[in-house]
Amino acid sequence: MRQVAIYGKGGIGKSTTTQNLTAGLGEMGKNIMIVGCDPKADSTRLVLHGLAQKSVLDTLREEGEEVELENIMKTGAFGIRCVESGGPEPGVGCAGRGIITSINMLEQLGAYTDDLDYVFYDVLGDVVCGGFAMPIREGKAQEIYIVASGEMMALYAANNISKGIQKYANTGGCRLGGIICNSRKVDGEKELLEAFAKELGSQLIYFVPRENLVQRAEINKKTVIDFAPSEPQADAYRGLARAIDGNEMFVVPKPMVQDRLEEILMEHGLMDI
Ligand code: ADP
Ligand code: MG
Repeated sequence: MRQVAIYGKGGIGKSTTTQNLTAGLGEMGKNIMIVGCDPKADSTRLVLHGLAQKSVLDTLREEGEEVELENIMKTGAFGIRCVESGGPEPGVGCAGRGIITSINMLEQLGAYTDDLDYVFYDVLGDVVCGGFAMPIREGKAQEIYIVASGEMMALYAANNISKGIQKYANTGGCRLGGIICNSRKVDGEKELLEAFAKELGSQLIYFVPRENLVQRAEINKKTVIDFAPSEPQADAYRGLARAIDGNEMFVVPKPMVQDRLEEILMEHGLMDI
């Protein structure tokens, strides 16, 4: 069982990419569970076709400790099992706690069955701090992908996340499997991301084009593979699924200092604008 965490700046496309790529893996016949680790609880909407999934924390709040697996885990498209950890009431408590509670609960209820090929954690966060580091800190997820784009703030966040991975690499054993570029159509984006990943000692594992079809599928509460299986964007996600399935490059990343990050951006002409 490969346990994979997807990190990246807010709004970069973690949930969209995770669901579309797991759809690709599902199509390949893999057994998958997605554990949404964002208090927004929107990590599994496309796979579940919009079905309102009650989060683990809400279920605990409303039903007490007598939770059954079927209350918190729903099966969606391609047989993908879906869990949302949820969050505390706004302004109260640590949002990261939900992740810890959920993973413990899933373990107790026997959700991590032997037939699973993959567990994906879709984790909120520009920073890998406290509870949000939980999947990698505790060694649950050994494999991490960072979703980024050619925009400076996305790379800034990716570099920070790499610092977190480096910090927990010894204790938790986590490794960076690569950077996924979710394109924002920035000039020279692929080359920039390749250079950035190389500087980290990692790789650009895949370039996902920006495509309005992703939003059309989203409005229809579906992954692209589900909504428009013969479109090129569906093949892009299948390609990402294959790249991850066949990946053999796992490293402890070497985060860079801010100056070097800016240098790389400048080398690719982005600071000239
Ligand atoms: P995150 O989970 O990182 O906060 P989301 O997955 O919710 O981000 O994505 C934010 C928005 O970007 C969504 O509305 C989604 O449809 C859009 N989006 C993500 N990836 C693409 C893409 N490759 N092409 C077009 N739109 C995309
Ligand atoms: Mg999300």
